[in-house]
Amino acid sequence: MSDGLKPGYQHRWLNGDVIDLPAGKVVCVGRNYAAHAKELNNPIPEKPILFIKPSTALVPLSEPIPLREEQGGCHYETEIALLIGKPLKNASSQQASQAIKATGIALDLTLRELQTQLKKQSHPWEIAKGFDGACPMSEWVPVSELNPLDKTELQLTINGEIRQQGNSRDMITAIPELLSYMSSYFTLEPGDIVLTGTPAGVGALHRFDRLELTMNRNYQFTTQCT
Ligand code: ZN
Repeated sequence: MSDGLKPGYQHRWLNGDVIDLPAGKVVCVGRNYAAHAKELNNPIPEKPILFIKPSTALVPLSEPIPLREEQGGCHYETEIALLIGKPLKNASSQQASQAIKATGIALDLTLRELQTQLKKQSHPWEIAKGFDGACPMSEWVPVSELNPLDKTELQLTINGEIRQQGNSRDMITAIPELLSYMSSYFTLEPGDIVLTGTPAGVGALHRFDRLELTMNRNYQFTTQCT
């Protein structure tokens, strides 16, 4: 295309079929696993720390991740993702649980040096986490097949080496309460995505890294850096 815009991200099932929901905003939580808060020398928050990535941050996980030197270090954060199927506003935990349509795995890409610099200046760190391509997103597994409210394992290997391992049971704020809390500030709409935080082991990506992201060992997605 002459304007340099690529066709946008679309939600898809594992078999490649398009899911008939718009790609919405991505509502995220920081420090939802105690060990990750610790590794970045951050206190464990009393309430979930929320932020949003715009829909323009979404790209299919299978697309190569372009790293640009001038951006400084780009960190991976592997996270369980939820696809919202029903509107949620001031929702109860129970309503929230019933609104999850599908489960996926995403990377919350973070320009860490830029983020640290912005945090120091007490500025919003949007650009460090909301830039185009900052949310590589896998295909989706229906909740009937993989319910994120059960214990869900996630794992990231880079070049064959395990870097991140976690389990949803170790979240500081569990998924129903997290969605309920989010919905008291941001209405969640069908097609929106929620990222549920990253376990310990975050680090910088390097050119030609090969990444393998898995959920419960049997759902596996791969990508690489260029
Ligand atoms: Zn994150």
